[in-house]
Amino acid sequence: MSERGDADRTKRGLIIAIDGPAGVGKSTVARLLARQLGYLYLDTGALYRAIAWKVRDMGVSSDDPLAIAAVLPKTTLQMACGPEQSHVLLDGRDITGELRTPGVTALASMVSAIPAVREWLLPVQRKIGAEGCVVAEGRDIGTKVFPQADVKFFLEADAEVRATRRHLELVAAGHSVQFDQTKRDLTGRDDRDRSRAVAPLIPAPDAEHIDTSSLPVDAVVAHMMAVVAARL
Ligand code: C5P
Repeated sequence: MSERGDADRTKRGLIIAIDGPAGVGKSTVARLLARQLGYLYLDTGALYRAIAWKVRDMGVSSDDPLAIAAVLPKTTLQMACGPEQSHVLLDGRDITGELRTPGVTALASMVSAIPAVREWLLPVQRKIGAEGCVVAEGRDIGTKVFPQADVKFFLEADAEVRATRRHLELVAAGHSVQFDQTKRDLTGRDDRDRSRAVAPLIPAPDAEHIDTSSLPVDAVVAHMMAVVAARL
């Protein structure tokens, strides 16, 4: 399922890929960009989180890739994408609000390294972006999911800055976590994403790199809009 927003859309529907490690601001800028363009916002991390949620719900061990892969054929996963938020329906139930806990985050990082999980999620993501007019964010959008994307960005930022952003988000959401723990979790996830055998986190050769360490969100979005506008 995918529902498009009402905002005006440009005549030609681009696919815009935004990749990068955790805490670089991908979701924030992807949402803003999608809103300005009247495009769909596709949060691919939410799909990995949904699989992690189900694995945990079923009590399957995170150390058992075969058992995790066996969960997939019995799963239906749909995303209702709007310009602001992607709602995730797992086996018919909206679990969007349960996907951003530290437990699901850690497990998503583990299940995302399993080749069968990545393979299973490929058509789910491609179906949503098939018509274009989409801003998709993740780790392998420009390299694997949409290698033909019209515009590709790879966001980077200093690890301290990224951990600070993530920590503030968690505290604002009511989680009681130490900064050092947040930083360890974030760098651990990045290392796993970068070193996995299938679809590791690497920039596409044709991606435009943006370091967001000291750039305000508005400046990042304005720069991205200028790059996109040149392609419309
Ligand atoms: O982006 P988000 O933090 O929600 O992603 C959760 C996890 O899902 C990441 O830590 C990463 O391991 C995995 N992921 C991925 N490929 C994507 C999106 C997310 O491996 N395209």
